[in-house]
Amino acid sequence: MLLDEMLEYNLEFVNQKKYEPLKTDNIPNKRTVIFTCMDTRLVELLPKALNIKNGDVKMVKNAGAILRNPFDSIMKGILVAIYELKAERVMVIGHHDCGMSHADPAALRQSLLENGITEETLNTLNHSGIDLESEFKGFNSVEDSVKESASVIRSHPLLPSYVNVHGLVIDPATGKLDLVTKG
Ligand SMILES: [Zn+2]
Repeated sequence: MLLDEMLEYNLEFVNQKKYEPLKTDNIPNKRTVIFTCMDTRLVELLPKALNIKNGDVKMVKNAGAILRNPFDSIMKGILVAIYELKAERVMVIGHHDCGMSHADPAALRQSLLENGITEETLNTLNHSGIDLESEFKGFNSVEDSVKESASVIRSHPLLPSYVNVHGLVIDPATGKLDLVTKG
């Protein structure tokens, strides 16, 4: 079972002190917060393609690097990184071939129903003001989406003026970065 394998590996990791080359503290050396997508292809590729080592940056992720609500948990993470952990710049990094591009809320709804979530639950959520369509909305253009996320951060009332917010798009196959908007 995967969990057991992980726990077994972890014992070995700790016993053999494999953590030693990774030692650092919680202040980002590059004074940067990266906000990117949770895509599996980026787990190792993105840090390597940007020459990011342990301790260099704060990294926050969600599905699609989509930020639309100025007080969601992503924005709170960014603000904590700035005010408590000395970050001075934010890089929003979307990627080509993202699962959130052309996301289909109707298909999601169908999948929820097929997995045992009832119409009643969906209706209750709907009546409580939770709109699945907008909560799980994706994007058509990754460049536009990155610009929009960057814009939500830049115009945040609690963002200090010295913070630069850049927007980029990475190729999940090669790691090539393209600048979309410079803060
Ligand atoms: Zn993605």
